Amino acid sequence: MTKHINDRIIGELRAIIGPAHLLTDPHKLGDYGHDEFALREIACIPEVVVFPADTGQVSAVLGLADAYGIPVTPRGGATGLCGGCVPAPGGIVLSLGRLSRIDIDGENRMAVAGAGVTLKDFTTAVEDAGLYFPPHPGDESAMIGGLIATNAGGSRAVKYGGIRNYVRGLEVVLAGGEVIRPGGKFIKSSTGYNLMNLFIGSEGTLGVITGAVIQLMARPLSLRSLVIPFAGLEAAVDTVHRLLGSGIVPVAVEFVGLDVISITEEYLHKRWPSHEGTTHLLIILDAAGEEEQDRQSQAVAAICLENGALEVYIADTPGKQDEVLAVRSKIYEAIKAETIEIMDISVPRAEIAGHVRRVQEISRTHGLWLPTFGHAGDGNVHTHIMKARYEGGRIVPLPESEWRGKIDAVRSDIYQDGRKRGGTISGEHGIGLVKKPYLSLTLDPKQIELMKGIRKVFDPNGILNPGKIFD
Ligand SMILES: Cc1cc2nc3c(=O)[nH]c(=O)nc-3n(C[C@H](O)[C@H](O)[C@H](O)COP(=O)(O)OP(=O)(O)OC[C@H]3O[C@@H](n4cnc5c(N)ncnc54)[C@H](O)[C@@H]3O)c2cc1C
Repeated sequence: MTKHINDRIIGELRAIIGPAHLLTDPHKLGDYGHDEFALREIACIPEVVVFPADTGQVSAVLGLADAYGIPVTPRGGATGLCGGCVPAPGGIVLSLGRLSRIDIDGENRMAVAGAGVTLKDFTTAVEDAGLYFPPHPGDESAMIGGLIATNAGGSRAVKYGGIRNYVRGLEVVLAGGEVIRPGGKFIKSSTGYNLMNLFIGSEGTLGVITGAVIQLMARPLSLRSLVIPFAGLEAAVDTVHRLLGSGIVPVAVEFVGLDVISITEEYLHKRWPSHEGTTHLLIILDAAGEEEQDRQSQAVAAICLENGALEVYIADTPGKQDEVLAVRSKIYEAIKAETIEIMDISVPRAEIAGHVRRVQEISRTHGLWLPTFGHAGDGNVHTHIMKARYEGGRIVPLPESEWRGKIDAVRSDIYQDGRKRGGTISGEHGIGLVKKPYLSLTLDPKQIELMKGIRKVFDPNGILNPGKIFD
């Protein structure tokens, strides 16, 4: 294996970080070699993990790494799903969890957060201040730096957009250790190239984010969830069109199959409110008050019933809502043991039904269960590649010989279909290691060449998360 780090360099790192915040114990390094992507063959054990306390220490580590040509992989909550924070061979993992300070500026409705603040702590601090941060991309142990570096999305993007829409300023340490602070606590800027936006979604390849200024909003007074079953996928997805065309903008519109709902109910010992049909819409609405909310929910119910909904269940108390959202948010956990990969193709909304139909054909061709659900309101579709079959309401695990050789062909068939429909291979998770071989299916050679040129400008010695997005 490539080896870049010797005892002298470890000594220099220790002098920067302090002995208590540097890890070289081979028994513990393995924990820092992977993220949430299931197949551990992409994992890579780092030579050392450092836990800097502040921007100054991050800067000193990057200065040292650049001078010696040592790869550095930034790591947040490691909840990524495509190997983005898997370290490059022979490198340093820069774990940012200690940069966990949050300041809420109520007057400007902005938060200033360290890269290591978790989504959970961030949301709690914002709510404690009486404010609202709409994006909620899944796993609450994700950290601000990782959320920004992947341009995370989540189900509420329909109304409120993804993380990019909320970042107003960044603090970034560049490859040589220099610190820049593009953007700030202001909303508008026409001041040259927007460097801040380049870092959003750059997956640790252009600089290490140490802090961010994040826009907050007023808290909506009423939230309500509707569960609406349909006999088939087409009717459900078609209804989303009509709904959004009517001028109502829900916070989230998710579609989900009854197969994964039933498995999750069993896993959690909780009940989903309806077992009708095959495909359900979960629609979340917010409003400034209950009267407006009632009007909105009734209009949504009417549109759904006109378009073939089998019934409309309204979760109008916090208890009912929590139960519905608990089931939806635990699908991942319920099927995780047999999941190989969660894809996140983004297609034009009108293409969702066609794309899911094609995924079902691919599933039959390859004999793998490919449950597909996701963000119907914004076209971001999560097909899960499973090492199992779904039979009689249960997950039936397959021997490795029956799934191992099929993964590349399944991925490739699904990506090809997404491309044909004018989509892209990642709507919110990023490219990392796992999607790298498929990048040219989405981006033409000129775009990739321009991206490589940008990377070279920011990181001439190629130390920042090498091997991710493209080589
Ligand atoms: C159950 C579950 C549900 C999920 N749901 C969603 C969802 O709804 N929407 C969604 O978008 N994602 C979702 N994800 C994926 C994941 O949570 C996001 O990709 C998240 O943004 C990753 O944040 P992290 O802190 O865990 O980053 P990590 O996994 O640690 O890293 C991700 C990438 O960011 C880089 N990085 C991390 N920190 C920094 C930094 N400070 N500076 C520069 N680069 C950095 C890493 O090098 C890596 O390339 C889900 C994951 C799980 C497990």
